[in-house]
Amino acid sequence: MIPYGKQTIEKDDVSTVGTALTDEYLTTGPRVREFEQKICEYVNSKFCVAVNSGTSALDIAVASLGLPPGSEIITTPFTFAASANCILYNNCKPVFADINPQTYNIDPEDVRKRITSKTKAIICVDYAGQPCDLDELKEIAEKHNLYLIEDAAHSLGAEYKGKKIGGIADITAFSFHPVKIITTGEGGAVTTNDEKLYQKMKLLRNHGIDKTPSERADYRYDMKILGRNYRITDFQCALGISQIMKIDRFIERRTEIANKYTKMLDGIQGIKTPYIKKNVRHAWHLYTILVKSIERDRFFGEMRNRGIGVNVHYIPVYKFTYYKQVFGGIRLPNVEEISSKIISLPIYPTLKDEELEKVVGSIKEIIGG
Ligand SMILES: *Cc1c(COP(=O)(O)O)cnc(C)c1O
Repeated sequence: MIPYGKQTIEKDDVSTVGTALTDEYLTTGPRVREFEQKICEYVNSKFCVAVNSGTSALDIAVASLGLPPGSEIITTPFTFAASANCILYNNCKPVFADINPQTYNIDPEDVRKRITSKTKAIICVDYAGQPCDLDELKEIAEKHNLYLIEDAAHSLGAEYKGKKIGGIADITAFSFHPVKIITTGEGGAVTTNDEKLYQKMKLLRNHGIDKTPSERADYRYDMKILGRNYRITDFQCALGISQIMKIDRFIERRTEIANKYTKMLDGIQGIKTPYIKKNVRHAWHLYTILVKSIERDRFFGEMRNRGIGVNVHYIPVYKFTYYKQVFGGIRLPNVEEISSKIISLPIYPTLKDEELEKVVGSIKEIIGG
């Protein structure tokens, strides 16, 4: 089966992790700081906190805002569950807004309509690796005194109007899960230019404790706030450092694959290829098409039968049993329409051209293009 996404691990990634395993510190050591500095340099942000998953990154991002219980946070349902779960972890209420039918990113106009006196933040998601309408969202956030958190699990390396994702929103959260742009196995990070939020997120990563063992003069330390254990290991950060040096090569190959797909699929009736905004660099975490001429689930089955690991990103978050029980039935028209037709095709740096041709050939067979 050709998977929809996959990590790229090369010889030097392996040797650098091997070396890190014999270091003095396996966790909370110098490689964590080094990885954080590399991320800051790459995305052009002042501060970074590396953690053990993208979900943890989102959790400490929301927790750092110190919002009163019951605060509303507007987000998209067209995402992985973590983008909304992080709101619930912090006793706040997710309010779902509809998506733009071209980019599948949260629609700023619909966000505006859902603002109440309880709204305190917006969490936007750069779907597939394409940055959201950040100027519009920032303008809304400023006008209504809201925080803007960007879930950039798909978009490390993406750019909005010439600026890297990671230095634009109040807090940006990244994931280093194996299918994402770079990997540390499991892992994540937050970036911010706000020193207060940074200090709070750093505390939240480690139980709210103010000093790591290496920072202590004696046995004394204090627990300032209720934190978590979201620490990432030094050997994971060794992998992260090695991976981030290769990121532009990874994204170039992803872009090449995306361009090939679009060129080969554009003429086929009943298929809609991705729309790309003029002012962005897309990171191409996902390459998704809309299947309009036949039923999506039939298309999905036919592709899987041919050994192609297509996937669906996403089942809307509000459709999950837990969300239905807590919030009742929600339906947003664009989310319903897009999520019923969308399919993710295989895209990752080591995908071979022959495999790409097999994917396209199979689509033509099934659709009859
Ligand atoms: C992968 C992902 C996450 C969560 O990241 P993990 O590292 O798996 O915890 C959050 N949001 C989105 C949009 C994702 O794709």
